[in-house]
Formats: sequence, structure tokens, C-alpha cells
Amino acid sequence: MKRHLLITIILIITLLTGCAQTQPVKTKGITEQSPTVLGLLGQLSPSLAHEVNRLPEFQQSVSERQIQALNKFVYLTNNATESEKSNLSSILKVGIPKSRKYCTPIQAIFWLLEKKDFEPGNSPLGYPLIDLLHKAWDYAEKDRWKDYETVTDRLNSHELVNYYEKGRFLYDLRGEDRKPTGATYDPLYLFWFNRGHCRDVTAFTLHCLKKAGYKVKEYRVDPGITTKAYHAATLFEWQGKNYIMDNGRPDKLLRIDFIPLDEYKPYDLTKNYRGETGKICRSCALPMDYKDLGTESDGSRSYDYCNLCFKDGKFTNPNITMNQMIKESITRLAGKLKVPESQAKEAAELFIPRLKRWK
Ligand SMILES: [Zn+2]
Repeated sequence: MKRHLLITIILIITLLTGCAQTQPVKTKGITEQSPTVLGLLGQLSPSLAHEVNRLPEFQQSVSERQIQALNKFVYLTNNATESEKSNLSSILKVGIPKSRKYCTPIQAIFWLLEKKDFEPGNSPLGYPLIDLLHKAWDYAEKDRWKDYETVTDRLNSHELVNYYEKGRFLYDLRGEDRKPTGATYDPLYLFWFNRGHCRDVTAFTLHCLKKAGYKVKEYRVDPGITTKAYHAATLFEWQGKNYIMDNGRPDKLLRIDFIPLDEYKPYDLTKNYRGETGKICRSCALPMDYKDLGTESDGSRSYDYCNLCFKDGKFTNPNITMNQMIKESITRLAGKLKVPESQAKEAAELFIPRLKRWK
């Protein structure tokens, strides 16, 4: 009890002195500027004091507003409710504490405290991670979000990278043409313009997570278009398990969070293209989903022919005539298009004679 009273008195004094200052404070760092407040925080929670001390904001000249935020932070920590305390301790574990540059969620709390006053029990200390980011990260504050290395230092956990990528990046394959370097991928271009494709996004994710001490690797998925083109995602290890982060998808809704590697594989191939290829078989006119594609002799997928007509680079029935094919494909088409056979017959007679195989 006595210690709390003492802390409160010191806090009030510090707050009052803080308020009385009108000039911005310039010092080497927070340790020199506010040893008392930081010492106080150290008494309350050494790990918290350690993390606050590491925030980039407190490494060089510290503004008066930041000192005020620190005072508020100590006050709120000292009076935190049980749920705020437990939220704070889970927030401290975001990323890999040993290797991350600093604790980003604590920085987010400070950003909020710089702007507003909060009461214990209803303060950012109790905001779950995503809520906290939602309230504190304002990309319109360009000074905070303009420098590539600063931002990628900040994105030092898979949750943080994922949140940023989902909110910021638009899928844009055409961006390729506009890249000045002619590189096939470019995370810096993506960072500036917030547009890019799977390899840009993956390069960005790898850069952030590698910096933060994660074990990471590019994960290539052959979407079957050709053997050279592939879809790229990030494979990362978290608490001994392998996960995939895949935000380089055309459809934002399909950017789900982290998928354990073993669940990812079947999911990706069908969902990345929604299973649809937009192509019809140029032999039997069957509209092809990804799973319907035939195979080339090198094992890659054929986007020309379905797997009933074309396997391992060869037609399955090389001697079939066009009229036989029209007859055969009626049932197939009726099933796939979910139409009566009479209608399927019309379609087969109309389309099949125009297809590549019969020209
Ligand atoms: Zn076919």
C-alpha cells in the first residue's frame, strides 16, 4: 500500500513538472530524460520497463508528448485491472522477444497514449492485439509509415506482417510492366505503391520475418499454368510447427491467416483459382476446373485439354472422330453444366467443330 502511495505521489509530481515544461525536450534517450518514471516502471514490471526502454521513440531525442505518454503508461500499468494485466503480458510475447527489434504492440499503446487520456479498466493496455493495431496504426500518418526499414523493423511478428499485408496490399499482376528495374519481383516497389503479386508479397514477408528472427523460406506452389510460373507463399516456423502465410492472392477474401503446412497444400490449389480456369477443353468443350486439367508429357498441367481427353502429352483416344466426340461429350457436358441432355447436345454441336483439335 505504502509503495503505491509513494508511486502515485511521484507520478503526480512528474506529471506536474511535465505539464509545466513548454520547450520540447532533447536528450540522448529516455533513460537520461526520465530515470524516475522508468525506475518506477521497473519496480512494477522489470520486463515492461525493459521493453519500453527499447522502443525506437526513446532512443534519441524524446519529445514532451512522449514523456507524458510514459507517465500515463506507468499510471495505467500501476492501476491496471486483472484483464489488462493478462492482456499486456500476452502482448509482450508477440513475435520472438529475444530477436525482435522491440515490442511493437507496446509502441502502439504509446502512440495512443500520446493522443488521448485513458482510464484504468478502459485503456489500450486491455486491447487485444488486432484491436490495438486497428486503433493505433493510422497509415495516413505518413512519417511513421514511409521508411522501408523502419516499417519492416516494426512488422516483427507473423501477426503484425499479416495484419499489415491484408490491410495494405492490392494484388496487381500488371504492376510488373511498370517496375523500373525489370525485376520479376520487388518488395520495395510493393512497399511504395502497395501493389504487387505473390512473389512481391512473399519477398516482403520473408524480409520482415527473417529480420525478426523467424525461420522462413519461400514456398512455391505450381498452379499448373506452366512449369516455370508458380505461386509463391511464405513458409515459417512458429513454436516448432510449420505454417504458410499467403497474402499474394488476387482475391482478398482468400487471404486467410496462417495455415499449417499440411492443411495448406490441397487448400491452395483449388482455392487460389477458385477451382475455375475460365477455359474449356479444346477437344470436348468441357468447362475445366483446375482438377479437370489434362497433363503434358513433363507432368505439368495442360490448359488446352481436359484429363479425359489428354494425358501425359497424348490424346487418350487419338482416333476418335469429331462426330463421335460430339456424341460422347453430351453426357459429360450435361453433368458439368447441370443442363438437360437436349441442351448439352446443342452446345456440343455448336462448340466442338470450332475447337482447336478439330480444325
Ligand atoms: Zn476434353
